[in-house]
Amino acid sequence: MSDFKNEFSWSVSRDSLFKECRRKYYYNYYGSWGGWDKNHRDKTTRILYVLKNLQNRWQWKGSTVHHEIEKVLKELVSTGDLVSAEKSKSRVTELMRSDFRFSRDGLYWQKDGSLRNVTALFEHEYKTGTTDEVWKQTHDEAIKCLDSFFGSGVPEVIKKLPKEKIISIESMTASAFSFNPEKVFVKLDLAYESGDGVEIVDWKTGAGESDKLQFLVYTIFAYEELEVPLEQISLTEYNLLGDGPRAHRFSAHELNDAVEYVNESIAKMKGMLADPDENTAVMTDFPRTDNERICETCSFKKICFELD
Ligand code: SF4
Repeated sequence: MSDFKNEFSWSVSRDSLFKECRRKYYYNYYGSWGGWDKNHRDKTTRILYVLKNLQNRWQWKGSTVHHEIEKVLKELVSTGDLVSAEKSKSRVTELMRSDFRFSRDGLYWQKDGSLRNVTALFEHEYKTGTTDEVWKQTHDEAIKCLDSFFGSGVPEVIKKLPKEKIISIESMTASAFSFNPEKVFVKLDLAYESGDGVEIVDWKTGAGESDKLQFLVYTIFAYEELEVPLEQISLTEYNLLGDGPRAHRFSAHELNDAVEYVNESIAKMKGMLADPDENTAVMTDFPRTDNERICETCSFKKICFELD
């Protein structure tokens, strides 16, 4: 299974990790490769893989809310029925309870295969002493996010929309944009045709999370892959814990700047590889950050300084 090839691709999250700490980027995209095999012959690879899949409580809340919204919208599109907010919230409560227990008991270390859909919490792995009150708050915020989603008016819009107008519900797409031969991964929370244009919806589950680069990449995707004129692309950010929807529109100039940025970012990443064609990397070529505050919250901190 670990024989399939580690191919290079770019994404906004990859760029953000690259900027944060080069060594963290290496562990995440190269050092942990193949570690989904529980019996991997290299113990370090296995450890890096498990650590790479840790989420902190804010990320857990976000991924739980995103998965539930995805489930609600997919059920709505396939059956025409909108699940009640109460039912949705109660299944999230159940799920968070069982995910919490799984993580608290460290069962992720025993699981073979992908850990992508498994909950492994940083707070449990590093025994941060997070109080029950804080965990309760994490759950309560997830519920508040769902209340905002059900009150957003979006489910009603989707209910009225013919199925064929839905472009994406949380689907990951690898695109080769015209400006660079490398694949760029884009995951739209929700996108649908609206009149002659496209409506893109992005759910945020924490305060102050807005990421302009991410929105620009969504817009480039709609412009290039869906061939929608720029003025017909509408992007709405819903901060589900905050103060309602915010519309974003970008100019051709902003798009050009983003294209330039993505090209530069890809060139920098590939420039650090031992063999850019084979996408192979050497750990020592990726220096550690000297910002201790980044290390404090880093999933790899328990092993990082033992490695060369
Ligand atoms: S512990 Fe610090 S230096 Fe090591 S990977 Fe994490 S952020 Fe980078």
